[in-house]
Amino acid sequence: MPDIDIETTISDVKLFIEKLKSDLPEVFASREAAASSAEQSGKVLYMGDLLETKIVLNPAAPKSTVTLEDGALVLTVNNAQENISSLAEGWLHEQAKQFLPAKVKEWAQKIGVEFNNIVIKDQKTMWASCSQKHNLNFSYRIIKMPKIIIDYLIIHELAHLIHFNHGTDYWATVAVYSPDYKEHRKWLNNNRYAVMADADLKYIPPAAEISADA
Ligand SMILES: [Zn+2]
Repeated sequence: MPDIDIETTISDVKLFIEKLKSDLPEVFASREAAASSAEQSGKVLYMGDLLETKIVLNPAAPKSTVTLEDGALVLTVNNAQENISSLAEGWLHEQAKQFLPAKVKEWAQKIGVEFNNIVIKDQKTMWASCSQKHNLNFSYRIIKMPKIIIDYLIIHELAHLIHFNHGTDYWATVAVYSPDYKEHRKWLNNNRYAVMADADLKYIPPAAEISADA
């Protein structure tokens, strides 16, 4: 029997996972930060902006609601026990369901690919994935990221409908539609935790990049 140092083995596995995460930042979210919430930070990330939250108690309201007013997220609750965090996350999930499918369709047309089905999931460990049957999955949490990064994640998945791998041809296709994709991958690596924790993002792409059109 070889003499296996269990500590070494565990740290090797950790290193392997860390390497995988940095190799594929568009796949791995940060499970560690998933417990963090709007409730703790008092802020909510939405399309790259860290929004202040305002909680208004209105017992007469038929149900608790969320609205975006002057750059702040106003949570009107009809009872003091309302779970603020799930209310805010529910709002983000709704925004994602409205925004992402339309964006994916737009990019699919530009790239000239057809997808089967798109599902916006509540997944804590992955940002996006696609299957060989051309089904696309996105975590609603990507709605917290700046638009240019959301575009990159969509392009990343749609390019897999042409090349179902991460080979040279695949990245060449991605580069056509997302010329700064290397920067976006760095951004994903640097902000995995911040996105999950509704914390300050480390780098907001400059406006010039946001308006850049493929
Ligand atoms: Zn991929």
